[in-house]
Order: sequence, then structure tokens, then C-alpha cells
Amino acid sequence: MKRLLLIAAAALTMVAHAQNFPGTKPVTFVVPFAAGGPTDKVARDLAVAMAKTMPGGNFVVENVAGAGGTIGAAKVARANPDGHTLLLFHIGMAATPALYRKLSYKPLEDFEFLGMVNDVPMTLVGKPQLPANTYRDFENYIRANAGKLNIAHAGLGSASHICGMLWQAQLQSKEAMTTIPFGGTAPAMNALVGGQVDVMCDQTTNTTAQIESGRIKAFAVTTAKPLSDHKSLKYYPSLQEMGLKNFDLTIWHGLYAPKGTPAAITTALNEAMKKALKDPEFIKKQEGLGALVVTDKRVEPAEHKKFVAAEIQKIKAAVDASGKYAD
Ligand code: ASP
Repeated sequence: MKRLLLIAAAALTMVAHAQNFPGTKPVTFVVPFAAGGPTDKVARDLAVAMAKTMPGGNFVVENVAGAGGTIGAAKVARANPDGHTLLLFHIGMAATPALYRKLSYKPLEDFEFLGMVNDVPMTLVGKPQLPANTYRDFENYIRANAGKLNIAHAGLGSASHICGMLWQAQLQSKEAMTTIPFGGTAPAMNALVGGQVDVMCDQTTNTTAQIESGRIKAFAVTTAKPLSDHKSLKYYPSLQEMGLKNFDLTIWHGLYAPKGTPAAITTALNEAMKKALKDPEFIKKQEGLGALVVTDKRVEPAEHKKFVAAEIQKIKAAVDASGKYAD
């Protein structure tokens, strides 16, 4: 009897927690890349949309950049599991355990999965000074300048790193490009616009506005097919169409809490996220930048976890076969 009462009291406390959540204390989305980049933009837009669903809730973004996103992810894995520190991470959640053999967190064991947010294609883009205007011209230019070009990315294990690696693996040029790592693709984009780096592969959420304004050149998209429904990105071919075998890369983003966050709180956060994903303003913003808000079952924590587990297996097999690790 006493035990039952204790269980009932614990359940009531959990409900009370969830009802008061988030209270006056802010909910921090840790973004493991620099401010102003694509992961940061998703986090900031999602923070605004989720705050609308939790009246009085205060959602903020903290950028903890470095080492391809692993520093920020490790910070959240060790954070107090009270629902006030969350991680907004992309495909790196599955790529880093494959690329780093020594990682201080385990994606499938150290986090509560809160649901997936969006799928984002990438674009292969170049500095405005490049003489090439089409993908074919660009390939010829690379061949003629073998060994002289440099490619930016957001650290080992980042989406831009993975994309650049996959692309270069199929390039007909003998000499590799010099890679220049940044703390995120926001600073990398500044360097590209300024002409200090030659090429980059990055999410459309960071490149679309720059392409539309002519500040950078776009050569191709990374999805299997062109983005024929997008107002400005529809003009670029897919890398697969340009002859790169099986090239099909889409970057996904998901939300995570430290392991041990009470179920009532993770449920409340998942409900808030699902409402935010239906917010017309959020959807419009994402679609304008070439991203697709998740509408399928991956918005549910269990499906999100299943998806990440499958991606880990897929990326690990590819990395193990290449024998190229980040550490
Ligand atoms: N787009 C970056 C990447 O390459 C990360 C970022 O700055 O959001 O992973």
C-alpha cells in the first residue's frame, strides 16, 4: 500500500513538473556549430515556433562550436537532465560515431530522442570570382587547377565535410583540394563570399539567400533529383545527373535531451515540437530555404531513434570501408 502511494506521489510530481515546464527558467538549444549557419538557423526558427506553443516559455540558442559538432553534443550529453538543455544536431549525430573512434558520448545511449525536425538538401557552391558558370565548366576548371583549390568545411564529421569527401571521391581530378575547417559554415560562407576559399558544400538553408543574391555561385544540388519545386534552386542539376554515381545526400536535423530527462518533460517537449512543425510561418521559412519539415513518423521519439540507429550503421559501413577516420 505504502509503495503504491509512493508511486502515485511520484507520478503526480512528474505531472506537476510537466505542467509547470518550462517555468521561468529558459530552455537552451545547444547548437554545435557557429551562429548564423544552417544548424543555427533551424534552431532559432524552431525556438521561436516552440515558444509560441508553450506560453511564457523562454527558448534560447547557445552555440558550442568545434570538432565537427562533437563538443556541443558532448556538453548536452553531460548536462543536467531537466529539459532545460537540449541539443539540435544534424546528420553528425550518426556520422561522428563512425568517424571518431574515441567519442565521449554515445548517441543511442546518452540522449533522449525528441523527434526529427527537417530534411535539407545541400548545394555545391563556389566563390563569386570563379570563371565557371556550370557544373561541367567547374569540373574542367578543377582539372586545369589540380592541387590549387581549397574547400571549406565545418570540421571533421560535419555535413559539409561528408559532402565534400563524397564529392571529391568521385571527381576526375588527380589532386585533392586543401581542406579548410571552420567552426561552422557561417564563417566558411563569409570566407567564400570574400573569395578566401574556393568551394564548399552546404545546406540550402545557408546557401539559398547567397545564391539568390549572386554573392556566390551554385553548381549542383546533392539530392538524386534536382529541386524542381524550388523557385531558385530548380535551375541547378543534381550531382547524380552530372554523372556522380548514386550521389544522394540530404541532411536531417533532430532534437535531443540528456538521458534521464523525465518522461513527462520529454513528452511535453515532443508535443511542443510537433505543434511547431505545423506552424505555417515555420513551414514557409523552411521551404523558402529549400528544407522540408518532417511530417512522417520520424517526429515520434522511437522512430527518430530507429532512424538514427539505421543511419549510424549505414555511415559506419561506408567509413569503415574507406578506412578514413577523423581521429
Ligand atoms: N552546415 C554545417 C555542417 O557542415 C554546420 C553548420 O554550421 O550549421 O555541418
